[in-house]
Amino acid sequence: MRIAKNSVVAFHYRVATADGEKVDESAGEPLTYLHGNAQIVPGLEEAMIGKQAGDKIRAEVTPEKAYGAHDKDLDLRVPLDAFPEDARDKLEPGFQFMADHPSQEGAQVQYTVHKRDGDEVLISGNHPLAGQTLIFDVEVVTVRAATPEELSHGHAHGPGGHHHH
Ligand code: ZN
Repeated sequence: MRIAKNSVVAFHYRVATADGEKVDESAGEPLTYLHGNAQIVPGLEEAMIGKQAGDKIRAEVTPEKAYGAHDKDLDLRVPLDAFPEDARDKLEPGFQFMADHPSQEGAQVQYTVHKRDGDEVLISGNHPLAGQTLIFDVEVVTVRAATPEELSHGHAHGPGGHHHH
């Protein structure tokens, strides 16, 4: 069968940036998802439509259909003393925390520390892959119809899917 809304799809993938830098890949068992439920990035989900088991796909996905454009208003330089004293030791590159959005009232953003620069800390609320065009190399392994239980939960069950039952 071909991939359409409410197909359960298992696939192997490798994803890299447009510069060829490897981002991620399926290791061992394939990733399983319920098609049409926004469980994979929109651009990849579009590329999967109509494909079937055994198909190999190369999809080039723009930032708008992956992790969003880079928003420079979310790249911030913050004085170290704006952080609670007991948190300052943790502010190493890669450390992540939730805090208020700089301009959208009530919104929270996950920030990543990029760098300590003297008395300041450079942080970014952009997704690490924001602004990146991504190249997905995909091999579709299986395609089947979702069970009524999967449809009511809104996700795939079984190997590579959710394991909460
Ligand atoms: Zn479930």
